[in-house]
Amino acid sequence: MFDKLLVANRGEIAVRVMQACEELGIDTVAIYSDADRNAGHVEFADEAYNVGPAPASESYLDQETILETADRAGADAIHPGYGFLAENAAFAARAEDAEGITWVGPPSEAMEALGEKTTARRVMQAADVPVVPGTSDPVDSAAEVRELGDEFGYPVAIKAAGGGGGRGMKIVRSADEAEDALESAKREGEAYFDDATVYVEKYLESPKHVEVQILADEHDTVLHLGERDCSLQRRHQKVIEEAPSPALDASLRESIGEAARRGVREAGYTNAGTVEFLVEDGEFYFMEVNTRIQVEHTVTEEVTGIDIVREQLRIAAGEELPFAQEDVAIDGHAIEFRINAENPAAEFAPTPGELETYVPPGGLGVRVDDAVTKGDEIAGDYDSMIAKLIVRAPTRERCLERSRRALRHFDISGPETIVPFHRLMLDDATFRAGEHTTDYLDREVDADE
Ligand code: ADP
Repeated sequence: MFDKLLVANRGEIAVRVMQACEELGIDTVAIYSDADRNAGHVEFADEAYNVGPAPASESYLDQETILETADRAGADAIHPGYGFLAENAAFAARAEDAEGITWVGPPSEAMEALGEKTTARRVMQAADVPVVPGTSDPVDSAAEVRELGDEFGYPVAIKAAGGGGGRGMKIVRSADEAEDALESAKREGEAYFDDATVYVEKYLESPKHVEVQILADEHDTVLHLGERDCSLQRRHQKVIEEAPSPALDASLRESIGEAARRGVREAGYTNAGTVEFLVEDGEFYFMEVNTRIQVEHTVTEEVTGIDIVREQLRIAAGEELPFAQEDVAIDGHAIEFRINAENPAAEFAPTPGELETYVPPGGLGVRVDDAVTKGDEIAGDYDSMIAKLIVRAPTRERCLERSRRALRHFDISGPETIVPFHRLMLDDATFRAGEHTTDYLDREVDADE
């Protein structure tokens, strides 16, 4: 096992990784920007190094400085968390090549193949995994978009090949929208992902977002840990996630899990990853692979009892997965509520500021992953998510009741947060019934305006 690991991240996920390290006897190294001198992840680490000014581009994304810091600290492994450099195959390759360092993540070649959405679609098709109807080749002209619109039927989505989180995705509802949508998808792809390549997919109007957690070791074992349902989204950003999905029956669950396993095996993938699908009318379609730990990995941990970050570390150290597919059992239900410093009454706009009160709930079945305390300044430079509330109970019904209790006792003030929004969702009949689809929240919010 590693002796000392550098976490190339901040916030709750940095702490989450360091917790797993501590349990494995690994010393931890934090990096921090000028804005994060007193941040929770710095406090938690055994050692911490400043890597630059507040803007992420000059600190948490500064590959050179991060690698130098790992060297200076004598770290023998780097964990990227999620966001920042986590899906950057070029950084992974540099970390792999760095003397004495192990990259805690998939091989950079697998990241490269799956990170590009058109290539990922081809890999999945080769493994007999159904993909969203569309093209796996780049699309260049509005005429092509119109042709594909006629072939698949409108609406279609133009998506940036390097995209994610709904960025670089434009919906085309009729032929005359093709021109403008193509231009703006290319522009966003270029701006956010440095790649103007786009492709076209059928846009499903009311799907469920269902994703499968994968663990794969370097000894040919590829397992799935069941699925998560992340259908509650605001503008394609996940807000509440749960496991298992209320939308799958046993046979669909089995097929989607097996499809995910086939797909990542085809890609020569190791470590943890997530295969995302859209589910509509009892059919599932591959959407993309996230080649990293995800925010919502927690709900899977709660229902399987498996520590996914620990397994990431063990896999990266060359160890074998300590269980087989038939040992993975889903027990109970878990829901994660993202605690974002955002104002739900103002389009979920970020609300930076000082955290005046912060007393998270506790008790049976309640887990809070965070890296903040009262008095912290929530910086506008980073992600607005400041904590995650994860609630677990034997059934979904009881999980909803326990969530109500936990959310009522989440005492947080200073910046506006979406805690009040979560409380309201627990009274929403569609959410309670588990019938919400990815378009649901946007329709509700827009109808209220
Ligand atoms: P990510 O999963 O990294 O956030 P995407 O940008 O591919 O990346 O997808 C974000 C969300 O956009 C999905 O969860 C889903 O709600 C929606 N979406 C993506 N592709 C489609 C599609 N073809 N049809 C309907 N919704 C889609």
